[in-house]
Amino acid sequence: MRDEQDQRKMYKYQCKDCKKLEVVGPKDPIRCSSCGCRIFYKLQKDETTQYDGC
Ligand SMILES: [Zn+2]
Repeated sequence: MRDEQDQRKMYKYQCKDCKKLEVVGPKDPIRCSSCGCRIFYKLQKDETTQYDGC
């Protein structure tokens, strides 16, 4: 399907705990593969988004 390209958009997030960078898709659950934390800062543009899931 032609929507596949849109779904492959990836976003960068930085883990609040260990500062590890994670690249996830818009529909993927955000979780640090290093420490398992779910609090991430969105690195796109200048906005900072915090996901409080821990
Ligand atoms: Zn982490």
